[in-house]
Amino acid sequence: MDKRAFQFSPVQRYLDRIHEELLDRNDGAVADYIPELTRADPSWLGIAMVTVDGHVYQVGDSRQSFTIQSISKAITYGLALEDRGLDQVLSKVGVEPSGEAFNSISLEPGTGRPMNPMINAGAIATTGLIEGKPDTMPMQRILETFGRYTGRPMEIDETVYRSESDTGHRNRAIAHLLYGHGILDRAPEEVVDLYFRQCSILVTARDLAMMGACLANNGVNPVTGVVALQSRYVEKVLSVMSTCGMYDFSGGWIYNVGMPAKSGVGGGIMAVLPGQFGLGVFSPRLDAKGNSVRGIEACKRLSKDFSLHLFHVARSTSATVMRQVYDCSKRTSRRRRSAAELAVLAAQGHRIRVYELQGELLFGSAESVGVEILSELSVSDYLVIDLKRVIGTDRASILVLSELASRIATEGKHLFFTDCKNLYRFRKHLLGESVGPQGPGQEPGPLHFEDADHAVEWCENQLIAEAETTGSENAIGASVQDLGAQYLCSGMTRAELEELRASGEERTFPAGSRIFRAGDAAESMFFIFGGEVEVWIDSGSGHHLRLSTLGPGMVFGEVAFMNQKRRTANVSAATETQCLELRFESIREALRIKMLMNMASHFASKIERDTLLIQQLG
Ligand code: GLU
Repeated sequence: MDKRAFQFSPVQRYLDRIHEELLDRNDGAVADYIPELTRADPSWLGIAMVTVDGHVYQVGDSRQSFTIQSISKAITYGLALEDRGLDQVLSKVGVEPSGEAFNSISLEPGTGRPMNPMINAGAIATTGLIEGKPDTMPMQRILETFGRYTGRPMEIDETVYRSESDTGHRNRAIAHLLYGHGILDRAPEEVVDLYFRQCSILVTARDLAMMGACLANNGVNPVTGVVALQSRYVEKVLSVMSTCGMYDFSGGWIYNVGMPAKSGVGGGIMAVLPGQFGLGVFSPRLDAKGNSVRGIEACKRLSKDFSLHLFHVARSTSATVMRQVYDCSKRTSRRRRSAAELAVLAAQGHRIRVYELQGELLFGSAESVGVEILSELSVSDYLVIDLKRVIGTDRASILVLSELASRIATEGKHLFFTDCKNLYRFRKHLLGESVGPQGPGQEPGPLHFEDADHAVEWCENQLIAEAETTGSENAIGASVQDLGAQYLCSGMTRAELEELRASGEERTFPAGSRIFRAGDAAESMFFIFGGEVEVWIDSGSGHHLRLSTLGPGMVFGEVAFMNQKRRTANVSAATETQCLELRFESIREALRIKMLMNMASHFASKIERDTLLIQQLG
């Protein structure tokens, strides 16, 4: 994307502004209990934001590196969950906020289990759970994991590591205590060393934003597409960040800012707005609780100015996802129908209802859609739920929709979900349920039709077939040999019809064969006697887009009769098709005029119908 799009984006300008305003805040002090940290320049301030689309915004010292410190705890916790699973990790480290300082020795009386993985005791226990793999030392695995989040190779600041290792007696003591309680099953010295190294990984504010964006994006790095954390653990990591991520300011933080976050004594804060973005702020001056003063302020302002609090209530109802609902009494499928068939649909089409959904289906919106559909069930026998514009379904909405499908099936009605190739989990669930597609010879299942148009066509055919058995004379698929039934020939005498027939050539096209291609020279038209053809175009992206399906008694290729240019669409035989091909040049002047008049009146009524349709769409 054009770089200027970001440079001039309102988000970039907003970040530039808060960066400038925060430069005036000079309270707080650089951490000094790890001597090497005092070398940080107190005036550094970097802010970065990465959206789940992978857009990166950054300002100030966003590329200045510093040690990650406690922020590493969230990432290592995710890795431990992947290595050991939820139960084993929970048996070693709890998830209760301690309300105490980061280096407190909050161990559960009796078991010695640290309160949570965000305080040092819990983090050291967590690091102790990281497994080495054949040929890979635990530290290398930790670095590789961090690299998946940031999208670049990571390294350790050896000087900071040594400085902490030389002075980190309290952390050593904690590791020994954990070992004494059986929480660590590896040598405490080895584990605490790993922990010191993990805290000394060098990152930038941009890296923190990218890491946050991976968590916001359900574990997937939005820029590289690499899985940083298995999605099932993302909410666990975000939970402990929400309740325990900001030391003994965690309650105040979630109350005021409302985003899961983790800070470190190096001056970094990583915040996450799930589904939206990751934020990284770096400024080394800390408040009394060990959080970056300007970092907190930046997040507070952002949250307040854009109403980003996680608990800010966003409504999710059918109104947000229901694009439009229509029945087929006025708007039919693209299959061209005879006048008699159109009459059946005008009378009965209200029994087919099409629901076009859009956006993201969540519990609230799916539930609301379900209620709306069920409330109209008494008047509809065929339901088509078009998911073409749905970008995602969560577990709740999948369950609600599949429940709806089985409910409708038990009522003896038909429900089809269309255009859901990309909704992988939705399809998988439905295929696993009894509501999935049925075997040959049975009625089509809910996922049978690729698009709404074909599903609606099937439903229309049912209504038309039903009307036939109850007395209408126009059978679908029956052969129509009489040219007099063709609208182009209306008003012709018997002799004229015979003359036309004699000047044409009878042709049979096997199923699947191409009758003509878009771009071919157009010299004839085809009256269909039997079978079925499909008129289609390539939508540009290689997608086969049906314009219409025509059957016996209908004509195609006739448009070129007026302008005699080239074919504008492709026509293929959908089933074996018998036609009369009539070359334009073989039609006598008097008949030509009759046919052109018929065509003009046909197009006039088509324009009328299309106007009505546009009115409905509008
Ligand atoms: N390595 C630091 C320690 O354990 C991390 C502290 C922090 O960032 O909260 O003391």
